[in-house]
Amino acid sequence: MEEEEEQKRRGVGLVLFPCPLQGHINPMLQLASILHSKGFSIIIVHTRFNSPNSSNYPHFNFIPIPDGISDIQASFSDVLALLSHLNVNCAVPLRDCLVRLLSDHDNSISTSKEKEPISCLISDAIMHFTQGVADGLKLPRLVLRTSSVESFLAFAAFPVLRQKNYLPISDSELETPVTELPPLKVKDLPVIKTHDLKTLYQLVGSMVDQVKASSGLILNTFDHLEQSSLSALTQEFPIPVFTIGPFHKLFPASSSSLLTQDQSCIAWLDTQPPKSVIYVSFGSLASMDEAEFMEMAWGLANSKCPFLWVVRSGLVHDSDRVEPLWPDGFLEMISGKGCIVKWAPQQDVLAHPAVGGFWTHNGWNSTLESICEGVPMLCHPNFGDQMVNARYVSHVWRVGLHLENRLERKEIERNIRRLMVEKEGEDMRERVASLKEKAEASVKKGGSSYESLEELIAQIFSF
Ligand code: UDP
Repeated sequence: MEEEEEQKRRGVGLVLFPCPLQGHINPMLQLASILHSKGFSIIIVHTRFNSPNSSNYPHFNFIPIPDGISDIQASFSDVLALLSHLNVNCAVPLRDCLVRLLSDHDNSISTSKEKEPISCLISDAIMHFTQGVADGLKLPRLVLRTSSVESFLAFAAFPVLRQKNYLPISDSELETPVTELPPLKVKDLPVIKTHDLKTLYQLVGSMVDQVKASSGLILNTFDHLEQSSLSALTQEFPIPVFTIGPFHKLFPASSSSLLTQDQSCIAWLDTQPPKSVIYVSFGSLASMDEAEFMEMAWGLANSKCPFLWVVRSGLVHDSDRVEPLWPDGFLEMISGKGCIVKWAPQQDVLAHPAVGGFWTHNGWNSTLESICEGVPMLCHPNFGDQMVNARYVSHVWRVGLHLENRLERKEIERNIRRLMVEKEGEDMRERVASLKEKAEASVKKGGSSYESLEELIAQIFSF
């Protein structure tokens, strides 16, 4: 029976369009792998900027489209400007590409994997222009939102937050609770530091409106983790919602990594005692100034805990070299105790028995990956949804400590020890182990994510 079903799906093509940032590409390609494993044919339409490595996915068709992003724009750390440009520049190329695909597929007998009828477009939510393109072609559009439900609700509340003067954020109100979105405080609201608030509000508003206009929302989460927020979401968004995560429990993200993962750190981890190492990574975009970087370095060294630290290019503002920044004698002092790499195989690191804590910026992928390996967190969010995720990690799920102030070596040292060697950390480790079990159960047959995936497949067939 199942084989028969899969055979039927093999005649159906899906077009997926990711947002070209690491934290968005990973879940979109994982979703593609999940749907492919269920029998669908997959076409990935992607920008030339940050294009995924197609050779890791020989079973998908990759089609690049022009994105109008120059090398200079691509090297800017202005994510807001980049996303706004992509939403304008990609509209015509995506439409032309879909027109071609739809006519190819209409006029051919479905034999080859490229020529199957296309059932729908699955787009990243932030690429909001795709709803207009899909409507113009009468093609159903599903949306993938790659972050937490809580952060999406906070984005959806922007009009109310502005009306009630929580936004724009004023420095004197940072600690004020946002009574409409407990337990968030004003400083947790998912904003990006910008002088161009108008563009930020437009981007967020369009994303939310075009999710509402879509044929369904796919989320990389599981019901047990975000139950009450999910109830609020389904009330506010009258569209089908599919919670089918954590995606990486079904397909790992390593093959969609834009940077080369340095595997040597796994051999280093093999030499360390169980649960002794703190893994430190702030993802692909977060950055800090030189002074904070120095505090971080000394805080780690002074904690006396072994650490694995990802220092990627661009981590420190205005510098793509980190070597000159190391304080005198620092590298000698940490020899044997610390391992530094430019990019790590993060999921393997978190799954390694030597890792006992994760100092993270709380990007949603990192947060979920940590929960799924039962690793408690030290939270230091940088911008956007990370602040919301960090508040939930520390105050709702209570599986992490929140470094809320500007980084300072003594505070870092103290909190690393609280997480890694004190009873408090042990209690968090127990709580996160229980979430890990729930995550694993959700993707097994009969689990909430497993069932939701079946519903998503039925929805695709209904188009
Ligand atoms: N990642 C990785 N190696 C690293 C750091 C991160 O492979 O050294 C991966 C990580 O596993 C995650 C993604 O990059 O899947 C980062 O996504 P996240 O949402 O956590 O943060 P973002 O980069 O979007 O801020």
